[in-house]
Amino acid sequence: MTEKPKLGVYICHCGINIAATVDVQAVSDYAQGLPNVVVARNYSYMCSDPGQLLIKDDIKEHGLNRVVVASCSPRMHEPTFRKALQEAGLNPYYLEMANIREQDSWVHQDREEATAKAKELVTAAVAKVRLLEPLTPREVDAEPAALIIGAGIAGIQAALDIADAGFQVYLVEQSPSVGGRMAQLDKTFPTLDCSACILTPKMVDVANHPNIELLAYSEVEEVSGFVGNFDVTVRKKARYVDVSKCTGCGDCAESCRVAGRFPNEFDQGMGKRGAIYLPFPQAVPAKYTIDPEKCLFLTRGRCGKSPKCVDACQPGAIDFEQKDEIVSFKVGAIIVATGFDVFDAAKKPEYGYTDFPNVITGLEMERLVSASGPTSGEIKVNNGEEEIVPKEIAFIQCVGSRDQSVGNEYCSRVCCMYTAKQAHLIKDKIPDAKVKVYYMDVRAFGKGFEEFYDRVRREGIRYVRGNPSEIFKRGKKLIVKVEDTLTATPCEDEFDLVVLAVGLVPRGDDRKTIELLRLSQSPDRFLMEAHPKLRPVDTASDGIFLAGCCQGPKDIPDTVAQAKGAAASALIPLARGKVSIDAQVANVIEATCRGCGFCVSICPYTAIELVEINRMGHMVQVARVNEALCKGCGSCSAGCLSNSIQPRSFRDRQILPQIAALGGIK
Ligand code: SF4
Ligand code: SF4
Ligand code: SF4
Ligand code: SF4
Repeated sequence: MTEKPKLGVYICHCGINIAATVDVQAVSDYAQGLPNVVVARNYSYMCSDPGQLLIKDDIKEHGLNRVVVASCSPRMHEPTFRKALQEAGLNPYYLEMANIREQDSWVHQDREEATAKAKELVTAAVAKVRLLEPLTPREVDAEPAALIIGAGIAGIQAALDIADAGFQVYLVEQSPSVGGRMAQLDKTFPTLDCSACILTPKMVDVANHPNIELLAYSEVEEVSGFVGNFDVTVRKKARYVDVSKCTGCGDCAESCRVAGRFPNEFDQGMGKRGAIYLPFPQAVPAKYTIDPEKCLFLTRGRCGKSPKCVDACQPGAIDFEQKDEIVSFKVGAIIVATGFDVFDAAKKPEYGYTDFPNVITGLEMERLVSASGPTSGEIKVNNGEEEIVPKEIAFIQCVGSRDQSVGNEYCSRVCCMYTAKQAHLIKDKIPDAKVKVYYMDVRAFGKGFEEFYDRVRREGIRYVRGNPSEIFKRGKKLIVKVEDTLTATPCEDEFDLVVLAVGLVPRGDDRKTIELLRLSQSPDRFLMEAHPKLRPVDTASDGIFLAGCCQGPKDIPDTVAQAKGAAASALIPLARGKVSIDAQVANVIEATCRGCGFCVSICPYTAIELVEINRMGHMVQVARVNEALCKGCGSCSAGCLSNSIQPRSFRDRQILPQIAALGGIK
């Protein structure tokens, strides 16, 4: 820098987060003696209003032209302090943060050593801050449209909110109908609302909304671009039914030569369907689909003399010539709402899920009690010998949740309550049934949950604390082997039906979404939010948001709340019409770039391309950075053999003195 550096250094106490381990007074006294430091202070909460005011006043009073804040991680408050600098008239990029919380006070106990380390970190920040250059963020136009992937309740809610705000929404759902898991539920806890009754109007709304283009039975194939300007390609899979002609009459399904031969996925395989089908009666769109793997005509080239569905269809909607269709569009923001899978109960072989037909999962129970289910709501099961109305019923909670043996340490958050709800529904339908619930803990944390749990116990549902070790068969009965851990009594209890309260797991096909959108996963394998507290719906990729159970298990109210949050966040760039692009991005020195393309292959955000330029009369290739895509991660810089690409604010000439300062203090 040509002007004389005038530095302000601010040491934060963070209450006692830092001050309990680091002698903040000693660090600010030390900082006062560092080269070019005009003022050094320590303060209880630098991010607070008075803390920021200290910086702003000093900039004005002392003419500071560089600022160091020694506090928490820059991920937390770099934008806060940059804004303070800007408000005081200084370029916001004349700021360097020393992380003396996460990298010091939180990981050390020895006060003396932690204080010495804080001094080193401040010294290094001071060495660098003098060399920072002024940067200006850019603004680009944002496309006034959003893509939502997944049309369960999260995707539906987010789509309606964005569409109601006046923006175009592309709602992509891979199955033939919207509705997701909620459509499979009978009643919702703790209010016992009919799930279909509260969901169906919203399903119809998304199909009819003038601002929503519903792409059901479709998959996102490609996403490129950046916040405000994503290019999306979607494959609309062939239904072999012309949806503009199909009236949803169902004549084709009735006449299908293989009608009722295949398990209906919507009924968890307990109901049957043919090759041409509607997933469930309230499906939206109410259009039939031919399963290409089951249809005789599509798999063998013929279906009797002529396909019966074709003969049955009065409007002539069956179209075996139909092909997948590729559609492309641009959006400014993306919401991922891909939902969850249920835990595969076969992974707990001790519970005999694959051995005994009367050991079923919670979701199967849901279809069994549902009026639209395979038994029209009648609870009856096969005990291996005959069909019976079960009178002694057990629920086992936490199957596949809070269980290290299957790699799921997390709580699925809904199993305790759906068990209580299903136990209540069973008592409602079979009043003389004896229902027992085996539990580890009951987590009834939501609004009205504890009251509902009390209610079902008053209805005569017995709760037994214990984690069953085994289920086996004796005669016609299932035996649950368990130790009641409250009385330390081993028991072998007899039942007609055992319901496994299976937990929620990340979707098996999440990997495709992760690769498509470059998302991260948390240790529990659900999609990772940008910050668990402060940015729970954002992802690390700008303009891409999460809603619902793809981010982690949650119940319907929390899913809807998160979907509304994601919609509100996605609306920010759409409503502004502009997005600001961080200036701290990689920069190519074209004069020395050899055009080897090594950086192109390294960049995890595909932000670099090779372009031709005229260098002193010769056309040569050089790297060029798309600043909107670049995250300033520095990977390209580490890989470049000619040192020709470096992120701004992290150039060699800026970070080498910082590293030297760290090595220089002993
Ligand atoms: Fe804590 Fe960071 Fe705020 Fe200081 S600036 S009080 S370290 S959160
Ligand atoms: Fe649609 Fe034709 Fe089937 Fe009726 S018979 S549901 S119109 S495809
Ligand atoms: Fe069913 Fe045959 Fe029509 Fe295929 S062609 S949907 S198998 S009737
Ligand atoms: Fe890509 Fe990272 Fe280099 Fe930016 S800094 S161009 S994101 S490798």
